[in-house]
Amino acid sequence: MSDDSHSAENEILSTYDAHCAICLTRLPQAGIQAVGLFDSSTRGLEQVRASIDMGLLPEYYDTSLSSDSNGLAQCPTCHMGYFTSNTIALSPSLPVLDYLCNYLKNTPVPDQMPLHKVCSQLRLATTMYDFALPDPTSILPYLELFTVVTLRPEDVIGCHLLTPHLPRLSIVKNDEFEFAPKGTSRMDQGVVRIFDAFKLAMADNPPPMSLGIIPLSGETPQCYWRLPVKIEVVLAALVHRVGMRVYKAEELRKTQHILGIFMQRRFTSQ
Ligand SMILES: [Zn+2]
Repeated sequence: MSDDSHSAENEILSTYDAHCAICLTRLPQAGIQAVGLFDSSTRGLEQVRASIDMGLLPEYYDTSLSSDSNGLAQCPTCHMGYFTSNTIALSPSLPVLDYLCNYLKNTPVPDQMPLHKVCSQLRLATTMYDFALPDPTSILPYLELFTVVTLRPEDVIGCHLLTPHLPRLSIVKNDEFEFAPKGTSRMDQGVVRIFDAFKLAMADNPPPMSLGIIPLSGETPQCYWRLPVKIEVVLAALVHRVGMRVYKAEELRKTQHILGIFMQRRFTSQ
């Protein structure tokens, strides 16, 4: 392993203070892994190349873990048991996928920016109001949030992904998520849980343990993960994993829709 990739891995592990970004378990540093969002080796490079062709990634996208948006920390259970086997995957949130899909459908093609530029602009949307995109106000609370989607639901029947830090319930208020008031039920409309490994890593005093189960089959409440990765990179990694099967998860159906738009454009331009 090169010194560069070794230090990139150490940086990722230090960002998360050796917590798994998904289940929030903390392990000794030797037990936690810095993993890339794309597949490793040649297959990963092919995924990146195809994503650049679709405009999901910029031309000179850095695929190494030293890229600021291409890696996260995972425990062996999440990594080996679920992600490496493509049983589950990270996805942009549904409101963001909806926005990007509508952008591709409703903006005249000659006026469209590549999606990686759209995502860059969206990241500026909280401070910049004058830009050539449809109004993003409704998706602002979701720009840093991602979901975990199940690519092979039949493989997770009877499986439970446990967390030592089940987050409190949250709701949207004034375009931001905040903790839900006492008495809120997880079954109430609009209630979510937000897993935030970075916040946990930065905490002076780690919160007390709160054991729980991370739903893998779309149960309520909706769960989100606040992660320092980029929407376009997560989407680029996901489009190569969705295939043609029929999914129940709306995030996966929307991702297939986005992929379908790109494929149709490539077909008609040939
Ligand atoms: Zn984990």
